[in-house]
Amino acid sequence: MSQTHRLPSGGRIDRATTLRFTFNGRRYTGHPGDTLASALLANGVTLVARSWKYHRPRGIVGSGVEEPNAIVQVDTGARTVPNARATEVALHDGLVAASVNAWPGVGVDLMALAGLFGRIMPAGFYYKTFMWPRQFWMKYEHFIRKAAGLGTAPDRPDPDLYDKMNAHCDVLVVGGGPAGLAAALAAGRAGARVILADLQEEFGGSLLDQRDTAAGEADPSTQGGIDGMAPMAWVARTVAELKTMPEVRLLPRSTVFGYHDHNFLTIAERRTDHLPPRERAGPRERVWRVRAGRVVLAAGAHERPLVFANNDRPGVMLASAVSCYLNRHGVEPGSRAVVFTNNDSAYRTAFDLAAAGIPVAVVDVRRVPRGDWVERARAAGIDVIANAVVVDVEGGRRVRGVKVMALDAHGEGVTGNATVVRCDLLAVSGGWNPVVHLHAQSGGRPRFVDGMACFVPGASVQAERSAGACNGRFALGDCLADGLAAGAEAARLVGIRDVAVPAVPAVRDLAEEPLAPVWVVPSPEPAGRGPKQFVDLQNDVTASDIALAAREGYRSIEHVKRYTAMGFGTDQGKLGNINGMAILAQALGHDIASTGTTTFRPNYTPVTFGAIAGRDLGERFEPIRRTALHRWHEAQGAPFENVGQWKRPWYYPKAGEDLDAAVRRECLAVRNGVGIMDASTLGKIDLQGRDAATLLDWVYTNAWGKLDVGRCRYGLMLDENGMVMDDGVTTRLADRHYLMTTTTGGAARVMAWLERWLQTEWPHLDVYLTSVTDHWATIAVAGPDSRKVVQSVCEGIDFAPAAFPFMSCREGTVAGVPARVMRISFSGELAYEVSVCANEAGHAWAALMTAGAAFGITPYGTETMHVLRAEKGFIIVGQDTDGSVTPADLGMDWIVAKGKDFIGRRSLLRADTRRDDRKELVGLLTEEPTQVLPEGGQIVVDGRAPAPVPMLGHVTSSYFSASLGRSIALALVKGGRKRVGERVEIPLADGRALRAVIANSVFIDPEGARQNV
Ligand SMILES: Cc1cc2nc3c(=O)[nH]c(=O)nc-3n(C[C@H](O)[C@H](O)[C@H](O)COP(=O)(O)OP(=O)(O)OC[C@H]3O[C@@H](n4cnc5c(N)ncnc54)[C@H](O)[C@@H]3O)c2cc1C
Repeated sequence: MSQTHRLPSGGRIDRATTLRFTFNGRRYTGHPGDTLASALLANGVTLVARSWKYHRPRGIVGSGVEEPNAIVQVDTGARTVPNARATEVALHDGLVAASVNAWPGVGVDLMALAGLFGRIMPAGFYYKTFMWPRQFWMKYEHFIRKAAGLGTAPDRPDPDLYDKMNAHCDVLVVGGGPAGLAAALAAGRAGARVILADLQEEFGGSLLDQRDTAAGEADPSTQGGIDGMAPMAWVARTVAELKTMPEVRLLPRSTVFGYHDHNFLTIAERRTDHLPPRERAGPRERVWRVRAGRVVLAAGAHERPLVFANNDRPGVMLASAVSCYLNRHGVEPGSRAVVFTNNDSAYRTAFDLAAAGIPVAVVDVRRVPRGDWVERARAAGIDVIANAVVVDVEGGRRVRGVKVMALDAHGEGVTGNATVVRCDLLAVSGGWNPVVHLHAQSGGRPRFVDGMACFVPGASVQAERSAGACNGRFALGDCLADGLAAGAEAARLVGIRDVAVPAVPAVRDLAEEPLAPVWVVPSPEPAGRGPKQFVDLQNDVTASDIALAAREGYRSIEHVKRYTAMGFGTDQGKLGNINGMAILAQALGHDIASTGTTTFRPNYTPVTFGAIAGRDLGERFEPIRRTALHRWHEAQGAPFENVGQWKRPWYYPKAGEDLDAAVRRECLAVRNGVGIMDASTLGKIDLQGRDAATLLDWVYTNAWGKLDVGRCRYGLMLDENGMVMDDGVTTRLADRHYLMTTTTGGAARVMAWLERWLQTEWPHLDVYLTSVTDHWATIAVAGPDSRKVVQSVCEGIDFAPAAFPFMSCREGTVAGVPARVMRISFSGELAYEVSVCANEAGHAWAALMTAGAAFGITPYGTETMHVLRAEKGFIIVGQDTDGSVTPADLGMDWIVAKGKDFIGRRSLLRADTRRDDRKELVGLLTEEPTQVLPEGGQIVVDGRAPAPVPMLGHVTSSYFSASLGRSIALALVKGGRKRVGERVEIPLADGRALRAVIANSVFIDPEGARQNV
């Protein structure tokens, strides 16, 4: 019989429709409105998982994102999702789910044997045990990973579609409980553009979990509703009003998972997972990238578990989760219950249990519990056992009873004999933790409030404020008032005038008495003995693990986290962390406030790779970029080379020519006449602003202050380690206006690098960067005849050598279109780079080809460009450098200014970067001139020496030079410049070794006479 634990009535489920699903291969049924967790409980399935380290049986603890145990694999094949929380998986017909981390299954898990050795596997066990012998680590790692893994990633491409959406709003409200709905209402009524996101299927927040009785009912846990109506009727009315507002966007099933700088927040919206596969259409998930004027955080609070022996047994649940399953899903999570609490809120659960006809007793830690809640419970016949604690749980795969003991006179120990109370459900409440995660991600520092025994948001760092339970305002009336005030304030702060705060709905909240903080429940066993008292259920971290970490010298909560694994994993310590911090504080003799919290980082909950990738997959993952002249190159039959994302013409074969023949012809044409090349792919960054030269000074090794307008300068860019990361020519176009060129492949990286420094370290600099790579098409015309060709189509520029010297830039027209012409050279020849608007590229190219026809102008590709520059010893960053090369290694000390600072300078002074046996750039000439060395070939003194043969370096660039009639190569060789003239060998894979002599790296025209004409 299915759904044995479904209550006969109630719940926000559609009983008329039956959904079929399987869990661990067994068939069950449920209803729309169920989660996988509630449907499992409805079917009496309480053992759903095995724990991570000890493989102990585990059941469902929570009812939402905080769930640490019920981690499941959902769906199969390419659509499978690992590590989903059963509490968040909406049930649909045909759902297939399975437990993770159990072998062969949750019922019989052989890995549970690990639990038998639990006592000798405390925190740090792996670090201490698997250290020796060192070489065994790879074997250990294999088994540890196998034992520890959670879900399984799909092994086939995901067939679903994922989306991204950018949005701006005045007010983003996170959380659609009473506080969030009130905030959205107030801001929406004021006319603000509002986005309201809630991770649940429906709006209503924790009201969804309460008994939803109509106004006036004399039930202590509902208190007569909101404004005289049942709470969910108020929610429905509010949502309906919000839907009428054109500027309000409602996003259910949407988790705000990241709060970044500048009020930029990211939301993962699950659009179709709640539907059966056949009904799914459109994107499965969508990531919203929201820039919000103001943010109202109304994310509620998580109930805190209590830490006592065997508190991980299936059947131990959060009190609020028990209420949720009873009221929202019409499910009976147990047939006889004990509520174990230190505060009043769990009495609500006791009433819920009683209303469902489930016998219940309350064990209250407080010495003399009093107040409305307690008295009404007693009046209702609920047994309240005061000044007592649950010290242990009986039962292995299911709670069978709890041992209750009285607290001693100080409340710090237990006394007398334990009484066993028979039950199969233990609802626990240790207080509430406001969800301060997003506030902390925004840069705020939560502060601990002793009286409330919880962290609440601290001062705002960004344009945000918290409201409702996540602001430590728990009572419903307070939540509504706080939300309305926050929404109205947000509207006002984005500039809307005359904002009215709507009237606060009438709510009759029962007064609550203070809670009695309990971080570890006193135990009759000596410290460290007795059954495990779990703090972090997901990572099997116990109270004694934290005490051990403190004994072993860990003081910082961040270090204890790493040592014990507390707060790792998919739940990121949502339940365990605050208890863990308090236990550490106790162990260290500190207060909780000074112990602090661990850092809350994005993502608030796991986000699928699909959602992060969006549509940037397959051919969109790395878009192909083609220059404006691509068709012309294609028409010439040029093969293309991939350079970064660009397709660049590699060479232009004539009939019967192979690569070598074409390149020889092209090289000779440039050296002896004129060649033309599409250089549009070079990165171009436009820098403008008062401090543009200062930025250049910081990012390049040489000085820029004295560069005249109209002049160009070569620059070398280093990373923080002093290693060459890019190079290029920068031109001063006007007083505060520069154009930087970068390598083709490095353009995006350099742009991000400059932006990073400007935005993080030097926001005071007045510089604006614009990537203009695509705006300009650049045509290089190189060779002794280049001047004649370019000037014949150019107007407005004086090409006389004195008027237009090397390394300068002029503006004029080429074939009638505006152009920038730079006299710079990457071949060592007289050369010009002509830049025109990309739309005019074909026109300018055709004009230059026509003008050059008389000189035999020859198009050349990237291969020829490489040969020409190698003949001159010019480096290509990324080919002759590999991230471990300094300017001195390249013999380019001359470009490193002595009298100024720049990024990487400090690293150039380190002993390691000044060693004289560093690899240096040199030339190599093979003894046999026709032999072309393999690029990447290792360089040794004697290729036949016994292994291991000391390596001197490697070949970075290697070509046949038609101009020299022999092969040439560039190489990085240890102490290379001092070895010029020495013989070396380059062993080949076939056993031969090619012999070469170390030479100067400039093979042609070392004086630079050819380009200075
Ligand atoms: C100690 C205590 C005392 C209480 N006293 C009373 C009382 O006297 N009377 C009474 O009626 N009720 C009481 N309650 C219950 C009361 O209904 C809730 O406190 C109240 O509903 C909280 O409202 P909220 O909007 O702040 O948070 P919630 O109702 O919890 O709503 C928060 C919403 O935010 C969503 N959310 C969280 N994080 C994200 C995210 N990252 N992205 C998107 N959505 C997110 C959640 O899904 C949830 O829907 C009490 C509760 C507690 C804990």
